[in-house]
Amino acid sequence: MRPEILFPLFASVSTLKGVGPRVAALLEKLDVTRIVDLLWLLPHGHIDRSQRPNVEDAEPGVTVTLTLNILEHRPGRTDKQPYRIYAGDETGVIGLTFFRPRRDWLERQFPPGERRIVSGKLERYGDQLQMVHPEHVADPDKGEDVPLREPVYPLTAGLAPKALRNAIVQSVERAPEMPEWQDAAFKSQNRFPDWQVALRLVHSDGAIAVDAAVGDPDMLARRRLAYDELLANQLALALVRQRMRRQGGRALNVRSDGKVAEMRTALPWPLTRAQDRVIGEIMADLADPTRMLRLLQGDVGSGKTAVALLVAVAVVETGAQVALMVPTEVLARQHARTLTEMGAAIGLRVEALTGRDKGKGRAAILQRLSAGEIDLVIGTHALFQDSIQFRDLGLSIIDEQHRFGVHQRMLLSAKGRKTSDVLVMTATPIPRTLAMTAYGDMDVSRLDERPPGRKPVDTRVLPADRADAVIDRLCGLMARGERAYWICPLVDDEGESDAAAAEARHRELQQPFGTKVGLVHGRMKPEDKDAALVAFAEGRTSLLVATTVVEVGVDVPEATVIVIEDAERFGLAQLHQLRGRVGRGEKPGHCLLLYRPPLGDTARKRLEVLRNTDDGFLIAEEDFRLRGGGDLLGTRQSGLPPMRLASVERDQDLLAAAHDDARLIINTDPELQGKRGPDLRTLLYLFERDAAIRYLKSG
Ligand code: ADP
Ligand code: MG
Repeated sequence: MRPEILFPLFASVSTLKGVGPRVAALLEKLDVTRIVDLLWLLPHGHIDRSQRPNVEDAEPGVTVTLTLNILEHRPGRTDKQPYRIYAGDETGVIGLTFFRPRRDWLERQFPPGERRIVSGKLERYGDQLQMVHPEHVADPDKGEDVPLREPVYPLTAGLAPKALRNAIVQSVERAPEMPEWQDAAFKSQNRFPDWQVALRLVHSDGAIAVDAAVGDPDMLARRRLAYDELLANQLALALVRQRMRRQGGRALNVRSDGKVAEMRTALPWPLTRAQDRVIGEIMADLADPTRMLRLLQGDVGSGKTAVALLVAVAVVETGAQVALMVPTEVLARQHARTLTEMGAAIGLRVEALTGRDKGKGRAAILQRLSAGEIDLVIGTHALFQDSIQFRDLGLSIIDEQHRFGVHQRMLLSAKGRKTSDVLVMTATPIPRTLAMTAYGDMDVSRLDERPPGRKPVDTRVLPADRADAVIDRLCGLMARGERAYWICPLVDDEGESDAAAAEARHRELQQPFGTKVGLVHGRMKPEDKDAALVAFAEGRTSLLVATTVVEVGVDVPEATVIVIEDAERFGLAQLHQLRGRVGRGEKPGHCLLLYRPPLGDTARKRLEVLRNTDDGFLIAEEDFRLRGGGDLLGTRQSGLPPMRLASVERDQDLLAAAHDDARLIINTDPELQGKRGPDLRTLLYLFERDAAIRYLKSG
């Protein structure tokens, strides 16, 4: 249960005055459904309205606030002409100009003979000054005024700034005084205000005095809130890790001579030295009585699946089960196909389990899992559900982990009898500073060698108007039996319009290629996605138009070409992943990056990095350098929940401090029972680090 003090913060926004269903629906587009979401919606800037000159001294082009006497209305001759109101003070007169006027409203707002405060930008109009559509109008005789420093919030179409501001003001009023969870010395050293004060400050529309000795209070308030978020995050990670380490593992009686050796000889190729070494490292962990928490880093195409297969075989031989969790359903099905085929040589019982399995089919799989009749189950996050019981889960493998949250992977591994060993596989090399915070305590194995015979993918950067030439070239390649991907970019988060773009491109490419063109995008039914991929893998189609659903893991060795449209809009690491879909077989791969000119400087540099190197680690570092780390730790790559207040790039010092503080807290008060404990728990609840709270509770 959340502490009571937080109840008001988690109430729905519709409990606020003036927030009806319409406004609530608009707020939801900003991911705002509760009071706390409004508090976290920090203004991204302020409009300074504190300049209040006389008309004479007012300068065009700047936002000013003027107190004026209303003199005269001059409506246009027709409604199409602007409506002017002349107003002034003892030093001069300006025009207030309105297009498409609502006369009755203007007459009510600006009665001649009264005073009004208006705020907006002045511009020159002939030899006069005018203000077109003042942004604020207030009646000083009623005690109204214009905000001195107006916060600017992200907006969504249809939501009036006033409506949002009104909701935020009420939310800030509801924010209670909180117990202090920050370390007192750290707080005063950084001159952080209290939580409630900080919120009031960042959302305030009053003037703020910057004291040179103390610093900008607004900035300090933001840093305070950012630190709270970072601390909640680091603390949650530290708790989860601590709990995982404590729940001791088990010694699995694995051996490399039995089934593992049989499996090795049944593979179509010898293992690389790196694969061999890494399998050895993992087997040693499995045999060890402490729990395995190992990260396997291996660039795209380095052969992580084979490693997973062999260690799975070792675990299964001891009588335990293995779960392999992957980020997409397409990938789950693909892995199930390849691993069933490979594992057949030693009678490995493999099954896929995804959201698409429903009803009787699903019940049957669950039954066989709990009876121990499935050795290796491959699935998406559907694998964490409570309804899923293993007879004896010995090892959880998480492929392409950057797509998963930390808490999800902890949940899966908690399903084991005594909690299973965990192997996390990733192709995304995370720069060191980030790795420290996201995976500090994991052991790392590296697959630093690719299977022999691979040539680097030939990468070219071309403007989009060369698409026709590209299509001609594809015709030639396909005539020779090669296969290609055509990637359309994600247009928005909803996945709505990228699907549309992919469909349009698909129709277009059907002209030259007819039925040889397949299509796969996120909006398709899972079975249709899968069918499209299988058709491509089996060569029934030879050109696959796709969105980034094929980004990770998809393995069709016959594919030799990948065309990526609007390449400048992808992250570098993502482009590297996509490029990794080709050049997986004997034949050399080609990657064509199409961009829409003009290409900015940074964009050009980024694409050049990709053209010049094939080393995922270098690419990740470069990407980090070129666009800053915000997105990396912020969202997808690290598997951490997104940051709403902090930015890793801007708040690096705070991140490091939060990391250290969290470690210290856990070392001195592992159950959060001590003096700071209850307040820190409140902090965790505030930022909804619920998994961490559950760990605390589970004793
Ligand atoms: P990733 O590390 O990107 O997950 P995969 O496991 O999908 O890579 O392997 C990439 C390709 O390399 C697959 O087609 C796989 O069959 C092949 N492969 C894996 N190991 C070897 C090896 N030792 N020798 C030759 N080919 C291999
Ligand atoms: Mg893979």
